[in-house]
Amino acid sequence: MSPGAPALRPGLETLAPYEPGKPIEEVQREYGLARVIKLASNENPLGPSPRVLRALRAAQKQVHFYPDGSCHRLRQAVAGRLRCRPGNLVFGNGSNELLVLLGLAFLRPGDEVLTSDSSFVVYYTVPKLMDARLVTVPLREYAYDLEAMAAAISAKTRIVFIANPNNPTGTAVRPRDLERFLARVPPGCLVVLDEAYQEYLDAGFRTPSLGWVRDGGNVVVLRTFSKAYGLAGLRVGYGIAPREVAQAVERVRPPFNVGSLAQAAALAAWSDAAYVRRSVALARRERRWLERALARRGYAPVPSQANFVFLPLPSGTARSLFTRLLRLGVIIRPAGEASVRITVGTRPQNARLLQALEKISPARRARPD
Ligand SMILES: *Cc1c(COP(=O)(O)O)cnc(C)c1O
Repeated sequence: MSPGAPALRPGLETLAPYEPGKPIEEVQREYGLARVIKLASNENPLGPSPRVLRALRAAQKQVHFYPDGSCHRLRQAVAGRLRCRPGNLVFGNGSNELLVLLGLAFLRPGDEVLTSDSSFVVYYTVPKLMDARLVTVPLREYAYDLEAMAAAISAKTRIVFIANPNNPTGTAVRPRDLERFLARVPPGCLVVLDEAYQEYLDAGFRTPSLGWVRDGGNVVVLRTFSKAYGLAGLRVGYGIAPREVAQAVERVRPPFNVGSLAQAAALAAWSDAAYVRRSVALARRERRWLERALARRGYAPVPSQANFVFLPLPSGTARSLFTRLLRLGVIIRPAGEASVRITVGTRPQNARLLQALEKISPARRARPD
C-alpha cells in the first residue's frame, strides 16, 4: 500500500470498470487477422452519413473554440421535429451521461433505484455512484416484467430505469402495459424510459412516450445518436423531460459536455432522414434474416425489436463461443455465462458470422437448456 493515495469512497469497491466491446484493431493485432468484423456494440454498420462527413469537415475549422454549451442549433432542430419546447430537452455526452446526471440530480443516499435484471449496465452503476440502493426484478421470458416492477415500487423508489427495447435481450414491452405501469408510479418517483433503440421497433410496439412527458410529470425519455443515426464515436444523446427535470439536469451538467464536432454531426444526422430510414430498414430486414438463419442452425434467438440479436446458449458456453469467433475475426459480445449478444450487420457481415459459427463446429449446435 503506498502512503499517498486516498482510500476509494466506501461502496465503490464493487464498481468494476466498464468492459467495452473489443476494438477491431486489437483483435487484428492479437490474432494476426486482416479482416475482422465487429458485431459487438450495436453500432450502425452503414458507417456515417455523407452529410455528417461534410458537416464535420466544415466544423473542424472552429475546434479552437469551446462548443456551444447549450447545443442551441441542435436543440432547435430536435424540438422542432419532436414538437416539444426547447426547454424540455437535455443533451449529454451520449445518453450514458444523462443517466448519470439524472442520478446526480435526484438520488439521495438510501433512495432506491428500480430496474430489471439483465438490462443496461449503467442502470446498476448509477445507484452505486450515489449511495443509493439497487432493486432489480427478474426478466420474464427475456422481457421487462412490468407487473413485478410495479409491485416492487416502495416509498423509497426515486428512479425507475426501463430500457425499451431492452439491451441485451432485444425485447420490447407493449405500449398499454407501459401505460398501465406508469399509472402505478407514485408522484416524486422518476421513470426513465431509455429508448436508445426506439427507431427499430415494429409498429405494434411503438409507444406514444413523448406524449407521456409533461411539465409537472415524472417521465423522461432518453434517445441517442449512437445507433440509428450512426454517431456512436461522437457521443451525443438527449432527453425529453418535464421542465423541472430538465432544469435539475442543467444544474449538474458539466458546462461543455457535448463537443462542437459532435453537435455539428448530430445536426447533420438529424436532417438526413433518408440515412436513418435506410439504417432502420437494413437492421429490420437483416435481423429477420439472421434470426431465421440462426434458428435453422439449431439456435433459439430471442425475437428482437432492436438492431441486435440475443442468443441463449447452454450454461457456461458463452465465453468459449465468443473466443472461437474472435479467432475467426468476428467480434460479438458475451452476455453472462449462458448467452451472447450479436449486433445485426450488413448481409455480408451476417453471412460471415454464420460461416464462422458453422466452422466452429456444426455438430456442437448450441441449444438453450
Ligand atoms: C447504446 C445504448 C445507449 C446509448 O448510449 P450512448 O451513451 O448514447 O451512446 C443507451 N441505453 C442503452 C440501453 C443502450 O444500449
